Amino acid sequence: MRLFLSMGAFALALGLALVAQTPRSTEQNLIDDLAIANRILSSDELGVLRVYGHVSARSQRNRERFYIARSIAPAFVTPGDVIEHDLEGKAVAGTRADQNEERFIDAAIYKTRPDVMAVVHTHSPELIAFSVSSVGLASGGGTAPVYDIRKFNKGRPGEITTPELGRTLAEALGRGTGILLHGHGAVVVSTSVPVAISAANSLRRAALLQTQMTAMGGAINPNPREYPEGRVRPAGPATTPANASSGGTLDTRNNAGDRAWDHWKRIGSRMIQTSGIKNSSRPADALEALKLDLAIASRVLSSAGLGIMDTAGHVSVRHPKNPNRYFISRAISPGSVTPADLIENDLDSNAVGAPRDDEYLEVHIHGQIYKARPDVMAVIHAHTPELVAFGQSSVKLRPVSNGGAFIADGLPLWAIGRFDPTQTIVTTPELGQSLAQTIGKKAGALLTGHGIALTDSSLYGLVNRVYDFRVNAMIQQQAILLGGSINYLEGADTETPPAPVVPTGTGGGLGSARFWEYWRQQVSLDR
Ligand SMILES: [Zn+2]
Ligand SMILES: [Zn+2]
Repeated sequence: MRLFLSMGAFALALGLALVAQTPRSTEQNLIDDLAIANRILSSDELGVLRVYGHVSARSQRNRERFYIARSIAPAFVTPGDVIEHDLEGKAVAGTRADQNEERFIDAAIYKTRPDVMAVVHTHSPELIAFSVSSVGLASGGGTAPVYDIRKFNKGRPGEITTPELGRTLAEALGRGTGILLHGHGAVVVSTSVPVAISAANSLRRAALLQTQMTAMGGAINPNPREYPEGRVRPAGPATTPANASSGGTLDTRNNAGDRAWDHWKRIGSRMIQTSGIKNSSRPADALEALKLDLAIASRVLSSAGLGIMDTAGHVSVRHPKNPNRYFISRAISPGSVTPADLIENDLDSNAVGAPRDDEYLEVHIHGQIYKARPDVMAVIHAHTPELVAFGQSSVKLRPVSNGGAFIADGLPLWAIGRFDPTQTIVTTPELGQSLAQTIGKKAGALLTGHGIALTDSSLYGLVNRVYDFRVNAMIQQQAILLGGSINYLEGADTETPPAPVVPTGTGGGLGSARFWEYWRQQVSLDR
């Protein structure tokens, strides 16, 4: 409710600023612009930020300070979420538990680069593909540099969560305007918030363009002011176009200026009115709340945003008090599940109480995994095309992003024909058991020609993990498409996974909780 009110207040403030031109301090305008910039970059139109990433701005009042939102999805940021930091990354008003973990990127850059007034950090898959490829991303007449955290982090991948790592990134950036982060994303710096949006948008678009041209085959024309090689020049006198662009993708000049900012602000204000108000009440009873979250998870995983399930597939959660039980929907489309559709099963996948004739045929995937793996609290089975591709191709799925690090040296393949030539899906406890044995201690398996089974230590972590799983597959496909060699995430995973994160309410939290808070607001529980 607090989130809803604060966003209403923000919309009102914005409306006042636009309509009445109420005078406001330059500093407050900067904070307002920063909040809306987070939303703009999270829009479908720009697609630069999503659940992860951020934009920050240097204070105009005190150059030794900068503003960055607390750790929430950038699509939800309001001016009230913006925290003032010093150039060591310390919150000026005192340490808080919800400070952005990656603020050391910004702190180090503002410290070493007096010309920089705004920083964008993105986890855009299109840019991650270039970060792991030997093929350079053409940008500003050269190629974008790549920062590899493993050189400074004892060989391990990860995020920039300390001042020391921030300093190594700022050094790698040097005087540049942008840098790719291996298996992680990119950082773009600029002279103002609007120009930073433009530069980040241009960099992502450059990655899309180069990927598309590579997919088409043929040679890529290095000089956009001239005809591509082999293309017939039209008859008539040679002319030079009046506004030929330099083709530089890290160009921070933004001659379109206010026109672009006006357009983007409209996108940002629209998002304020449409997001963040759904599913705001949760049952007080913990078990009922979990069942509601399972129904929401089922819908979220079927949404266009995640694209994990379509009309098939199912997600389940173990009973938090009774490890010999789990909850799963009756056999309906995952996108229409409500708490009333949930069935409580024992680990042999028999419904508790009266027998049911409306269970999913593949319910044994869940029961047998819970039986074999006491640490697993949630399971999903889905037919996600990007992942099926890796289960059916000789190309092995490998980690190319921080989120996919759990794949480590690969997930096992399970081919049903080896266990029961008469079956195509997991319809018996024996088949479920064989799949669970194949998974062993890994996070999941690829079912050849069919789909995935993936586990996690919490429902919320599972939603996060399966999203990262699909995005990792997409990034690997794009990186393969670029040709060249791929620098996979070595030294990934193998450590104990972090403790399960449980959301505390609307609008806040870290890690998978932030992720959950974002996605759960994208769906409604209407039939
Ligand atoms: Zn990051
Ligand atoms: Zn299936």
